Amino acid sequence: MSPSAIARTSTSSPTLDSTAKLTKAGTESILSQTQSHNNSRKIPAVAVVADLDASKCTVTRTASPKPVPALDSPEVLSQSCTTDHMLTARWTEAAGWEAPEIKPYGALSIMPTASVLHYATECFEGMKAYRGVDGKVRLFRPDRNAQRFLQSATRIALPGFSTAEFRKCLERFVGVEARRWLPASEHERFVYLRPTMIATAPALGVQRPKEALMYIIAVLFPRLDEPRTGLAAPTPDGTATSSAGPPRPAMNGTTTTTANNNDNNNNNKKGMRLLASRHDIIRAWPGGFGNAKVGANYGPSLIAQGEARARGYDQILWLFGDEAFVTEAGGSNFFVLWLNEDGERELVTAPLGDGTILEGVTRASVLDLVRARGDVKVVERKFTMHEIVRAADQGRLLEGFGAGTAFFIAPVSDVHFRGLDVVFPLGKGERADFAMGIKDELKSIMYGRVQHEWGVVVDEL
Ligand SMILES: *Cc1c(COP(=O)(O)O)cnc(C)c1O
Repeated sequence: MSPSAIARTSTSSPTLDSTAKLTKAGTESILSQTQSHNNSRKIPAVAVVADLDASKCTVTRTASPKPVPALDSPEVLSQSCTTDHMLTARWTEAAGWEAPEIKPYGALSIMPTASVLHYATECFEGMKAYRGVDGKVRLFRPDRNAQRFLQSATRIALPGFSTAEFRKCLERFVGVEARRWLPASEHERFVYLRPTMIATAPALGVQRPKEALMYIIAVLFPRLDEPRTGLAAPTPDGTATSSAGPPRPAMNGTTTTTANNNDNNNNNKKGMRLLASRHDIIRAWPGGFGNAKVGANYGPSLIAQGEARARGYDQILWLFGDEAFVTEAGGSNFFVLWLNEDGERELVTAPLGDGTILEGVTRASVLDLVRARGDVKVVERKFTMHEIVRAADQGRLLEGFGAGTAFFIAPVSDVHFRGLDVVFPLGKGERADFAMGIKDELKSIMYGRVQHEWGVVVDEL
């Protein structure tokens, strides 16, 4: 073999970069098949199986609706309070999607051999339905959640579906639950929606699942973004806010009364406290699945989250690589506002593209809003913890915040990084006006204070 032949062979072994591209190519090819099937432009070579069809959805109302608890009740705090109904839709490889059903909330029955229980074939979405100041119920950019749900499902070999039909199912479900669970008398209230898909095929073979179940449930959440409630809960799309004071819900459904065991626990603590991840625990990597909303991203992260809690922090700030690239904060995207090296006010967040960042709907909305406003420079690029430390040292660090559905926009007070406490101005008693301004703008859309195409009104049934 000539030296050049050897060189060619060795460069063809997968690198992180080429793996990311392969994964992307695989997902895209499956998605394009789904899409063309949805548009029925092509006659599929295989037998035609049924797509998801919201018009076939049946509704069986519960005969015994639950009392709706107060938002500060223990049941709500534990994030276990589901509404009266759920929507389910079964899929089989042979027949496709069966008619969706809205029916009383209750246990699922799956076999111990179900794929999801062994191979983590599960993906989900997190979104909210809001009762607006005008009495209408809205979803926020549901098209984005529908598209991401399809992409996550595709990444783990779960079946595709028409995103338009999924949205209709979702709206139908919200329409059924809204009257009782988002009382029209109480403006500015929301329920959290959790669309989920699992592979239910009862067989241990490691293969594409032949049966799946899509379901949608709704959960009452306390008002997590209001500092006076003093709550903090880690969920896959939220970040904690303040943590002193009353009991706070935890990921495992238990409630702890002392939030920060070893901090000074002052009641006026405002910001989220972050613990930077150690180099030996990585949330996501190029070519992995950090960009898909799959349960497999969360189980392995709980140990680090637990450590953060035990040490008095709210969330982990996930770093990547020897360079200490900043990726996400807990289950939310992460933004920094600073004066860049050229002295310009700049909003920075990690870029999409290599599979390490989940494309949050909140992230996209922050970027869109700030770009439209044009008062600060907006960049999506890789940035490191060292850059944040330098900005702090030079007095250029302005604000940091997490962005996700459950907690919205959560300003950061400090980050602990390898023995260093990096304190944001908020942690020194200043205000996070930039983050709070964005939060207000988003809230206005969600609660219908302004009419905006991102706020989609749902008909109540
Ligand atoms: C869901 C999620 C987010 C936030 O996404 P939103 O659509 O804004 O709620 C961010 N990071 C991760 C890892 C997530 O799972």
